[in-house]
Amino acid sequence: MLVVEGRAVRHGRIEPAAIGIEEGKIVAIRKQLRGDPVYRYADALILPGGVDVHVHLREPGLTHKDDFLSGTESAAIGGVTTVVDMPNTKPPVTDGAALREKIRLLSGSANIDFGLYGGPATAAGVPEMKRATAFKVYLAESGNAVPVGTDADLAGILRAVGESGSFLAAHCEDPERFAAGVAKSLSDHHRSRPPEAEVAAIERVARLRGNARVHIAHVTTAEGARSRPAGATCETTPHHLLLSTTSNLGTRGKVNPPLRPDATRDALWREVLEGGIDMFASDHAPHTLEEKSARFEDAPAGVPGVATTFPVLFRYVRRQILPLERFVSMFSENPAKLLRANKGEIAVGRDADLLVVDPRRIEKVTARRCRYKCEWTPFEGAEATFPTATFVRGELVAQEGELVTERIGRMITPTEA
Ligand SMILES: [Zn+2]
Repeated sequence: MLVVEGRAVRHGRIEPAAIGIEEGKIVAIRKQLRGDPVYRYADALILPGGVDVHVHLREPGLTHKDDFLSGTESAAIGGVTTVVDMPNTKPPVTDGAALREKIRLLSGSANIDFGLYGGPATAAGVPEMKRATAFKVYLAESGNAVPVGTDADLAGILRAVGESGSFLAAHCEDPERFAAGVAKSLSDHHRSRPPEAEVAAIERVARLRGNARVHIAHVTTAEGARSRPAGATCETTPHHLLLSTTSNLGTRGKVNPPLRPDATRDALWREVLEGGIDMFASDHAPHTLEEKSARFEDAPAGVPGVATTFPVLFRYVRRQILPLERFVSMFSENPAKLLRANKGEIAVGRDADLLVVDPRRIEKVTARRCRYKCEWTPFEGAEATFPTATFVRGELVAQEGELVTERIGRMITPTEA
């Protein structure tokens, strides 16, 4: 039996524990356990590994921006042990053949566990993509993603997803609420795709939902979170919580939905602290610096982030602004529940996905520290606490910022009904 010792975070409490692991699963949690090997982390914290339900790792077809091997290395270094990749790769994952090809291509290239979204254009695409972890629709154009058509198309997809037992993640912006004109700055971009567009699109999903499980991607406003239908989950991103239209980022801060003004951003934080948002997700969507060096209106939208969710948000845990229990539920537990994956909690029977962190260690974010293929991060220079070790199903994958075990990631399968 492999044993990991430290101060484990369980049910919001911190207790010295020895975590026994066999065949990738937690089999015992005691004060002391005998095992071989034993990883001793003394008074460092042990948390469940992060589950990031929203990443764009760019493979296939866009691998000059990122790829699965590199993106999952960045994830592991940031304490993320499961990612779910979006379908707007090249070719897009819109049918069974494209999904099968993506699974074939990526198997063997993942350093952590992963799931894949299917992006059905119509209801017929859903049953074709049985092996998809979940499904994604865009209600507005964003980058190379094609928006869903009529209400009937969306209702049909929702019905098919409901029958599949999976869930539909929705990028909620209503293009009818977009302002005309050319956006030349982060403030312009915010005004051109305003908060009202977010709320209107969420209301459209709520109206057509039927019995489907629905997840609202990247809410940028407290109003957006509150307008989601009962029982639906929502995520927000570290960039929408920590950056704003006043961040001096230019095109590097261009993202859809946009960064908001400080006051909107602060209200979003309060919503997190009050428990109104279910989970963090990075919406890791890298572009090269060359692509981002275009004029504002021509630059592609998206920022990298899969490595920084834990490091930049843990600062707020350390300062006791964000309670540890809420952080763990938003970073690990709730996204694992959404996926119905056997992850997200330090408990007997769960996959042994763990991150180890010394809360006293403070450093600065750099693109190199994140191992980003795109070579930049919007959080460059920010105060951060990176994990010292990351385990995936009991395997030590990353340690002290270095990948130590490669390509052990597997595609996740739902475990509960
Ligand atoms: Zn996205």
